[in-house]
Amino acid sequence: MSKPLVAVVGRPNVGKSTFFNRVVGRRVSIVEDTPGVTRDRIYAEAEWCGTHFALIDTGGIEPNTSDVILSQMREQAEIAMETSDIILFMVDGKDGLTHADAEVAGMLRRTGKPVLVVANKIDNPKNLPDHFYDFYELGLGEVIPISSANMLGLGDALDRIVESFPEGEFTEDEDITKIAVIGKPNVGKSSLINKLVGENRVIVSNIAGTTRDSIDTPFQWGGEDFILIDTAGIRRKSKVTENIERYSVIRAVAAIERCDVCLLMIDAVEGITEQDKKIAGVAHEAGKGIMVVVNKWDLLEKDNHTMKNFEKEIQKELPFMAYAPAVFISVLTGQRVENVMVTVKSIAETRAMRVPTGQLNSLIADATMLQPPPSDKGKHLKIYYATQVGVKPPLFSFQINKKDLMHFSYARYLENRIRDAYGFKGTSLKFVFREKG
Ligand code: GDP
Ligand code: GDP
Repeated sequence: MSKPLVAVVGRPNVGKSTFFNRVVGRRVSIVEDTPGVTRDRIYAEAEWCGTHFALIDTGGIEPNTSDVILSQMREQAEIAMETSDIILFMVDGKDGLTHADAEVAGMLRRTGKPVLVVANKIDNPKNLPDHFYDFYELGLGEVIPISSANMLGLGDALDRIVESFPEGEFTEDEDITKIAVIGKPNVGKSSLINKLVGENRVIVSNIAGTTRDSIDTPFQWGGEDFILIDTAGIRRKSKVTENIERYSVIRAVAAIERCDVCLLMIDAVEGITEQDKKIAGVAHEAGKGIMVVVNKWDLLEKDNHTMKNFEKEIQKELPFMAYAPAVFISVLTGQRVENVMVTVKSIAETRAMRVPTGQLNSLIADATMLQPPPSDKGKHLKIYYATQVGVKPPLFSFQINKKDLMHFSYARYLENRIRDAYGFKGTSLKFVFREKG
């Protein structure tokens, strides 16, 4: 099931990143440092009163002139309208209404999506400044006063966000595997998509529950239905060159959020770039299926070691994703292209797999015998019981005596034992550790 996406739009310095950091919950992750997630705050998963959603900060780099601010805000608003389910429009409660705010509000009023206005930096909500009421001129309804820095009003804002999610629209058809093809411009995304979808395209009048189906292409392969989430066609220019990459990452992230399996396409000649790492990090954190598709294999001078060496390079550049399979293809010559869908299918199956509880516990018992759990000041970690509580991605719950004793390295060890036994190729595994009271 895909999570609702909330895009945050607003002028530079209104407090978007402060808000972002306050709202983002801490989740159990057995990866210490995933690029693009820990360092860059474009995307984060959040939860409020049991509702999970994803936040996207559409803010670009810091512009210094007012006309750049305006054009950048227009870009933000367009991306928000294109990718998200609801838009959080943040204004500066201290500065008051600006011309740029009013311009962007005009754009946002025309979208069919819910827009919430929050006025940040209202550090004293009992004494609202007179200019606070000017924000109602934006014509976007209620203005929610908050102070991100002081954590005031955030609960109200989150209540309103969660209330605005369209009901029941996120139960997309779970049986159909959704594929996102992600990669740098010119890597061969459109070529691959045309090849995959080409003669297999099916015309579907309406896919139940899809809110953003304009960019979805259904097709059949091997008698099964798939949906392709297309990001290849979108290539908007930005006036601020530094933002082009950021915006393409935002679009990629929105597609990843909805997909089951992410195809990360790499150019065989160029290798893995920083942007590829960021995107891989997001897919990993979001618990999506992922495979690396190395394209333009025809352009390399090859010997017996070329593929092995490339695999090693992938492991080195994406160390948190050792589980991701790689295929080496040439869309141009057709070499191994059929492996792409074979691998997608197997990843989709593995993500839905359930390990029986009895088997899991005997595996854990063997693993702890082979390598005893860590201890601290004479206190040993004890694992009482493990069970797989979820699929897509596979989620394992462990009852243990003390959370602090569960080190990253031991969790990684357990993950590796589970993978040795069951594979789970192409999907991240999620772990939760609960203390038995
Ligand atoms: P962004 O550019 O929209 O991401 O804005 P930042 O989150 O970087 O915040 C810009 C500045 O506003 C920083 O100096 C923050 O400390 C400050 N700021 C953020 N939230 C608040 C708030 O609620 N009250 C006050 N007084 N300052 C805030
Ligand atoms: P996109 O921007 O990622 O959608 O990339 P395109 O599908 O538009 O491809 C960009 C260019 O790469 C086009 O000129 C393609 O013909 C070329 N191309 C795509 N796949 C291959 C391949 O496997 N080998 C070679 N040599 N060129 C390719």
